[in-house]
Amino acid sequence: MGQFEHLKMEGLSNQVTIDNIQDDFLLTRDIRLDLLRLDLIHPQISGNKWFKLKYNIETALTQGAESILSFGGAYSNHLHALAYAGHVSGIKTIGILRGEEVSNHTLDDCRAWGMALHFISREAYRHKNESDFLESIQAKFPASYIVPEGGNNEAGRKGTREILQGIDLNLYTHICCAVGTGATLAGIADSALPQQKVWGFSAIKNGSYLEEEIKQYTGKSNWTLLHDYHFGGFAKKNEQLLEFMEGFRKKHQIELDVVYTGKMVAGIYQMIQATKMHAGSSVLVIHTGGLQGNRSLHNER
Ligand SMILES: *Cc1c(COP(=O)(O)O)cnc(C)c1O
Repeated sequence: MGQFEHLKMEGLSNQVTIDNIQDDFLLTRDIRLDLLRLDLIHPQISGNKWFKLKYNIETALTQGAESILSFGGAYSNHLHALAYAGHVSGIKTIGILRGEEVSNHTLDDCRAWGMALHFISREAYRHKNESDFLESIQAKFPASYIVPEGGNNEAGRKGTREILQGIDLNLYTHICCAVGTGATLAGIADSALPQQKVWGFSAIKNGSYLEEEIKQYTGKSNWTLLHDYHFGGFAKKNEQLLEFMEGFRKKHQIELDVVYTGKMVAGIYQMIQATKMHAGSSVLVIHTGGLQGNRSLHNER
């Protein structure tokens, strides 16, 4: 059995952890809140990134590609997961990064796992999904299998439709997840029960374009994208957010990440407070991981 098969079995092990979150705030408002701990499925290939990568890696290996190439920012959870997965699966990885060459914990790990990093200007990076640009990248790296930013392609979304597998969905009125590209939200919307509401918390400030994109990924209309909980914009943070995350960690011994899940869970509490989520609701909240990025909080690199 190859390394990738091992990884797949680890990742697919049926050990999904769901933590019931209990505190006075939720109790007095009669809300059940369960956290699906995808952050625990693997120490390096965290959360939803595994689901988005597994069919992509499988395809790359089947096609005999020499490497897997993808795109991301300097703290990308996606590139971090890809670098590790490539390292243990015996396939080279290439990361195309937005902006000036920098160094930080995320990229140190990527390099240590053998990922070749190429920094391109923010202007050039903007064209990352355009066919001309992709052709030029493919010409430069002819033997590589290209995965779009965030693992958001059909193979990636096939994986996210498996996130809810093995969970007793009947317990829940709502399912919540954080949104970057929307690949995870689309997979959840596709696999939720008909009567369930799926709420996506955008981590991006001007994320209204996401609506149209997500409509291309799923024919379902059970989902709503919420735009008011980005806390200043993508990867931005403020005191209110950091205090919430710290309070949550102290009370529940669960760490949330500062880019996605911290904002989502803070948003859920704000919505409950504002009675936008009604008493009697029962909510499955997806902890999509991303904790490697929190290292930047403690040490500004
Ligand atoms: C990448 C990421 C997301 C966003 O997932 P999309 O499928 O791109 O919407 C959410 N949470 C965490 C922790 C992530 O790393």
